Amino acid sequence: MNQVEQLKLLWELQELERDIARKEDEMQKIPSVHAYRTQKKEVSTLQESILNQQEKVEAGRKKLRRGEMNLQNVNAAIASLSNKLYGGEVQSTREMENMEKKLSSLQNEQSNIEDEILAVMEEMEKDEIESSEMGRQEEGEQEQLQQVKAQAQKEMQAAREELAQLNERRNSIMEQVDPPLLQKYQDMSAKTQGQCISLVQEGYCGICNVSLPSAFRARILTPGQLVFCENCNSLLVLGD
Ligand SMILES: [Zn+2]
Repeated sequence: MNQVEQLKLLWELQELERDIARKEDEMQKIPSVHAYRTQKKEVSTLQESILNQQEKVEAGRKKLRRGEMNLQNVNAAIASLSNKLYGGEVQSTREMENMEKKLSSLQNEQSNIEDEILAVMEEMEKDEIESSEMGRQEEGEQEQLQQVKAQAQKEMQAAREELAQLNERRNSIMEQVDPPLLQKYQDMSAKTQGQCISLVQEGYCGICNVSLPSAFRARILTPGQLVFCENCNSLLVLGD
């Protein structure tokens, strides 16, 4: 392979490496991958809310059990007091009045507990409806998430394969280029953010676009000579 061909390979290597860098950058920004991550976060937020809601329902259930127990106790106390009061055992008017007062206070308490139980039941019913609505919503979102995931995996896989092909081509070029020339390119490339080889077409520098004097063509074609653009310092490669 003559020098002109070697240099052209170097230029191809430079362009490939730019493609690879661009591809790697794109891979970080694949829309479906981004959408998957966002949606996954949304689903886990929803799952957290569902857990909270279920805890609320459970707390309501406990409150309800407590209320029912209190009600039972009060009912029992009312029954026993009524028995005494109307059973003919109590003779003293004063005692009867006291008992009637106590009974009335217990009946008040009974009514309050019943109201409270009703309120708790209503609240629980609302919480349960909300909880099952959230569950349905989660089901839908999970289904959507799986679709987005499949799409993201597909696109990620395609990008990986494309990148693997580019890297394979890059390795093959690197094997074909003379090691000293490759080393020179790598040193220059590191200093110029990967833009150090200029493909000359129609007498213009491919990087800075300056018009090169006609003598450049002959110099580029001279074996053993590396020619650089006087304007941007790129290594010139004949492209036509
Ligand atoms: Zn130039």
